Amino acid sequence: MSTYGHVASYYAATANMDIDFPPLHGNTRADVCVIGGGYTGLSTALHLRERGYDVVLLEAERIGWGASGRNGGQVGTGQRRPQKELEERLGKGHARLLWDLSLEGVALVGELIKRHGIDCDLSPGVMHLGWKARDAEWFRSEVEHLREVYDYDRLRVVPQEEARALSGSEVFVAGMIDEGSTHLHPLNYALGLAAAAQRAGVRMHESSRVTAYGGNNRVRVRTAQGEVDAGYVVLACNAYLGGLEPRVAGQILPINNFILATEPLDDETIAQINPRNLGMQDSRFVINYWRLSRDRRLLFGGGETYSRRFPADIRGFVRKHMLAIYPQLAGRRIDYGWGGTLAITLNRMPAFGRLPHNIFYALGYSGHGISIATLAGKLLAEAIAGSAERFDVMAKIPTPKFPGGTLFRHPGLVAGMLWYGLRDRL
Ligand SMILES: Cc1cc2nc3c(=O)[nH]c(=O)nc-3n(C[C@H](O)[C@H](O)[C@H](O)COP(=O)(O)OP(=O)(O)OC[C@H]3O[C@@H](n4cnc5c(N)ncnc54)[C@H](O)[C@@H]3O)c2cc1C
Repeated sequence: MSTYGHVASYYAATANMDIDFPPLHGNTRADVCVIGGGYTGLSTALHLRERGYDVVLLEAERIGWGASGRNGGQVGTGQRRPQKELEERLGKGHARLLWDLSLEGVALVGELIKRHGIDCDLSPGVMHLGWKARDAEWFRSEVEHLREVYDYDRLRVVPQEEARALSGSEVFVAGMIDEGSTHLHPLNYALGLAAAAQRAGVRMHESSRVTAYGGNNRVRVRTAQGEVDAGYVVLACNAYLGGLEPRVAGQILPINNFILATEPLDDETIAQINPRNLGMQDSRFVINYWRLSRDRRLLFGGGETYSRRFPADIRGFVRKHMLAIYPQLAGRRIDYGWGGTLAITLNRMPAFGRLPHNIFYALGYSGHGISIATLAGKLLAEAIAGSAERFDVMAKIPTPKFPGGTLFRHPGLVAGMLWYGLRDRL
């Protein structure tokens, strides 16, 4: 596949499909114009098309160029915040609906992969690993709570010995395995969704950045070389929204996160560090997460930055996080290092909503977007088709704006992030 236009990553180097879409030229009409070609936009377009809508999708760069083509690949059950917290903040009934939707999101990812024959290394099981004694207590209470209140029996506590045996790391004191969570090759999943949307008849355009939109009954969506006259617009731009929609921009903050890929590892090392081929993540505030690739590399994510620029040496930046967990990999070559930008919200729950004149949006998944962004597409399609009850379960979660609005949201938040990062190290 031509990796042109994607960041140089292990994922771009192993993308299994070569799909190109022409830029938008001239004027066209559609029932719905979707802006953004990541999971949110692709899933929305696919679900709308399956309902018979005529859909145009506009992507500024390439399909899967954003977070959807660069992430850690862990498809987690639950929402980004724990159920107990959601119960306290939103009430038990609302929290229950959010839990059910989260399971639907993970199942939907699996169903789409199966139905559309997407080859993206989908594998079951994610293990959460704790560095501190208090993590063991937290895992125990989480397993009990989800079992008692939500009848969820796919999560179990893993004692220290087993956590160390399954992770090959001596630093962890506790673990918890979720057999209901999965992991996958994120870019191949995105490309597979795009191929499915194309087969269904979605009209897709890459290198087609939307510069402005407006209108009353119908919305005119402009790019440098064309215009779409649409009945509805779906904003699926996530961290790259920029100034396109100031009414939404203040609800999110773009942050950067980084991943490396080692050289392919030998059988002995694989058997030592991940014998069950699980996705793994730890309990740090800035989470470390890792999994194995199909060609047996360790794909390890860790470290965040909050400015626009990525570190000059991404491999070195992530490697120190990897070595804190796997000192035995010190001599291994690092073949790839890349960064991605995701959108977080103040309370780490996604921002779903609608604006006057038929504009819908869903973004700010705060690092938990593979399942929820895929689900967002289904809920957005339902809402546009006139059944907004399930979309509203998400839209009713309050998503306060960052203090300082779009211009000054950075400094306070960065101070907060740095403080939590420091607390992790203490
Ligand atoms: C390094 C990293 C690791 C992560 N790990 C995980 C993980 O393990 N598990 C998990 O669940 N989540 C993870 N996430 C988060 C997850 O990747 C995102 O939540 C998800 O991909 C969001 O999908 P999206 O379609 O909303 O956004 P994106 O995939 O970012 O897509 C938005 C698209 O909109 C386009 N766009 C923006 N503005 C315009 C415009 N004006 N005109 C046209 N197009 C535009 C962009 O070019 C982009 O392609 C991670 C993210 C990163 C960066």
